[in-house]
Amino acid sequence: MTVYLDHAATTPMLPEAIAALSAQLTTTGNASSLHASGRHARRIVEESRESVARALNCRPGEVVFTSGGTESDNLALKGIFWSRRAEDPRRTRILASAVEHHAVLDPLDWLAEAEGAEVELIGVDHAGRLDLDALRASIERDPGTVALVSVMWANNEVGTLEPLDEVVALASEHRIPVHTDAVQAVGSVPVDFARSGVDALSLSGHKVGGPFGVGALVVRRELAVTALMHGGGQERDIRSGTIDAPAIAGLAAAVELSVKHQPEHSARVSVLRDDLVRRVQEAVPGAIYNGSAGQRLPGNAHLTFPGCEGDSLLMLLDARGIECSTGSACSAGVPQPSHVLLAMGFTEADARGALRFSLGHTSTAADVEALVQAIGPCVERARAASVRGR
Ligand code: PLP
Repeated sequence: MTVYLDHAATTPMLPEAIAALSAQLTTTGNASSLHASGRHARRIVEESRESVARALNCRPGEVVFTSGGTESDNLALKGIFWSRRAEDPRRTRILASAVEHHAVLDPLDWLAEAEGAEVELIGVDHAGRLDLDALRASIERDPGTVALVSVMWANNEVGTLEPLDEVVALASEHRIPVHTDAVQAVGSVPVDFARSGVDALSLSGHKVGGPFGVGALVVRRELAVTALMHGGGQERDIRSGTIDAPAIAGLAAAVELSVKHQPEHSARVSVLRDDLVRRVQEAVPGAIYNGSAGQRLPGNAHLTFPGCEGDSLLMLLDARGIECSTGSACSAGVPQPSHVLLAMGFTEADARGALRFSLGHTSTAADVEALVQAIGPCVERARAASVRGR
């Protein structure tokens, strides 16, 4: 039996999303074609756009379908930076939190290197919450030079919810656009685009029970976004490429359902998560629960096990059929301490003992039970291995 505790990496598709996707796989038609089959595909795409817009409270015309979270983040950062700088060449600064996903951090590095952007990463506290005073100081140093601000809705490693209302309030004083990576937030916490006041929001299909390789950037109509790809002019000329109607139908079904069931889902999953944390800490005295107690994704349990390598622990749990994550990316096979934990003030040694357990719509009390049974012996073995390796 597999105990899947890695829903933040990807979550199983919802049956309704599989049905919506499969139904379209059996039809033919390019959504840009004028004949009946093309019009059918176009109708599916436009109905999907409306359903995503209803779920997130934005206008259908504000939904730009993409290939997923990474593309949405790239499009927002590069596209908004280029258009804002084209309007006023002094706008070369981009402010972002230090705990963004690599889908934000790496395009920012690229913009700095290739386009001369001045990227300022704003620090966070020990729970991973953005330092608003630092953001304010950075904006106020020279507001006319800020092209955009990007702060994630919820952190993918430690689950911390960021103070987006305050970020929007600070940026809007100077009419600076705000982008948010809401890939982990949609379906887990209430996400209302219009109410949030953000100008652009990224989401991804496979994190909400939809297919891989599809997502959206919701972007206010008034905000100019320079295209990254040029071609047939689809998606308001912002994102060329033949539209993937089946994937979009699957995405829309998943967004609609995950948002509709979000309150019950979050309530159920957070009870399981709290039980998991309490019992793991009983089984392993000294295990530390990281992140924010109150401002947190319901399915996220991020713990550090002092004296262990998170990677060894992950493999020991995997051998018992329990799947989780260290939460941080591993570049070229070499485990790196997480930039998120380092920004939160962890030492490299403490950051190495981290594991993320993330629960989702298929999680059960039996999953928690299996982890609680396995974690003690696995930590003992990982600690022994770590002592031997010194
Ligand atoms: N942003 C966040 C916060 C994520 O957690 C992820 C996925 O891990 C991404 C962006 C990338 O999304 P995708 O896998 O759809 O490219």
